[in-house]
Amino acid sequence: MSNKVTIAGAGLAGSLLTVMLAERGFEVDLIERRPDMRKVDISAGRSINLALSNRGLRALREVGIEEEVMKEVVPMKGRLVHDLQGNLDMQPYSGREGNVINSVSRGGLNKLLLDKAETYPQVNIRFNTRLDKINYINKTYSLRDQNDLTVVEDDPFNVLIGSDGAGSSVRLSYQLGGVPRFSFSQQFLDHGYKELEIPPGPGGTYRIDGESLHIWPRHDFMMIALPNFDGSFTVTLFQKFKGENGFDEIWNEDQLMAFFKKDFPDLIEYMPNLVDDYFSNPTGNLATVKCHPWNHDGDACLIGDAAHAVVPFYGQGMNASFEDCRVLVEKIDENMAGGNAPDWEVIFAEFFKERKADGDAIGDLAIDNYMEMRSHTANPLHKMKRELELKIEKEHKDFDSKYSLVTFRDDIGYSQAKSQGEIQDKALLEICMWADSVDQINANDAYNKLQEILKSQQ
Ligand code: FAD
Repeated sequence: MSNKVTIAGAGLAGSLLTVMLAERGFEVDLIERRPDMRKVDISAGRSINLALSNRGLRALREVGIEEEVMKEVVPMKGRLVHDLQGNLDMQPYSGREGNVINSVSRGGLNKLLLDKAETYPQVNIRFNTRLDKINYINKTYSLRDQNDLTVVEDDPFNVLIGSDGAGSSVRLSYQLGGVPRFSFSQQFLDHGYKELEIPPGPGGTYRIDGESLHIWPRHDFMMIALPNFDGSFTVTLFQKFKGENGFDEIWNEDQLMAFFKKDFPDLIEYMPNLVDDYFSNPTGNLATVKCHPWNHDGDACLIGDAAHAVVPFYGQGMNASFEDCRVLVEKIDENMAGGNAPDWEVIFAEFFKERKADGDAIGDLAIDNYMEMRSHTANPLHKMKRELELKIEKEHKDFDSKYSLVTFRDDIGYSQAKSQGEIQDKALLEICMWADSVDQINANDAYNKLQEILKSQQ
């Protein structure tokens, strides 16, 4: 029985963790509220593609599917910023060749992970099955069949892992008294998002540059577009729910077209389905979830969005969730070294201890990056700072900008990336304030100054 694990949620984290546990010989019961996405289309206008970067790739490498995933990604070298006049400004993600982020299909990746999970005979996946109430005293839960709404009560479990996303039922069970003194916060943005599309051009070509993540920063709102493998782009509009330039100001085609003509005139010709997409796709909420603890003795543990949902502006939610899976199995391996049976209480406590600060850090970084994307990408001082850090990265292999520490490193936690990155950002901005252009700044001197500051803060 100590070898049996129930995982709630067969999304990105749940299906990857299933593979990792099955590889180690665990019997896994994977419970998913929705139908099997390999048989039923459930994309419904929500986050069709995602930016996959080094932390996520490391976890995929560990289950041997990195190469297969990389065959169908679109590498993005940088942000291509579109101003109101239609001018373009390419801002690379790194000063070093090869540091790219990868646009990947959420559905494609999830299906691949489910296929891989099903290759293990000891994995049992139950779709259309919602985990409801959990009783930690007698270690049972109730399961609701999503088709006929019948409920199976008192199904026993050994160990439960909640990878059931931002609205987690496992986390809710903690809140409802499952875990004494459970702390929880959910901070909604007053901005939401809507997914739109630029369809492929003739012969599956890209209508706009296919090697960049496009941004149309407009200070209080913005649009982004990520390329898909088939030549299309998934376009996401982020704006306030209410007020000037808000979703509540656009109720009909005339209002929508007037908004686009004023703020995104260059996009209209590429979006023939704009009106339909805008009015039929849902408007999504964006929230940061923080909670404490993630573990309930040796009985249950939260991972991924269930533990730390973040807003999408650093492109790290999935990467962080995959990193959770990697760290959790690392703790399992350490605990079981020498052939011991798993001590789940110790494993979960150590996992929480290592990852809590990182979950909080990526939540904060993602909020900060919203400001950076919708405003700083168009601000001259911040642009100069960015040019300087790229120049230093090019010349000094041991320097990583804050963006690179978060995105291209997989050997330090987000909390270290955040604290080091913030010290660097402050120093770089101070250096830039005294210059009119990056050409006036000596990258070597700036590098030495950064090293000095970092050393003095250790
Ligand atoms: P999910 O993927 O949400 O999976 C949870 C699963 O649990 C779902 O399948 C759900 O049906 C199931 N479930 C829920 N409740 C129950 C229940 N009671 N019983 C059984 N099953 C249940 N991340 C990046 O790394 N890069 C990006 O570029 C990026 N872009 C994003 C853009 C947008 C617009 C959004 C909204 C998010 C983005 N993210 C991105 C974040 C990323 O989508 C999430 O961090 C990631 O999906 C978290 O994975 P998860 O497995 O924890 O949760």
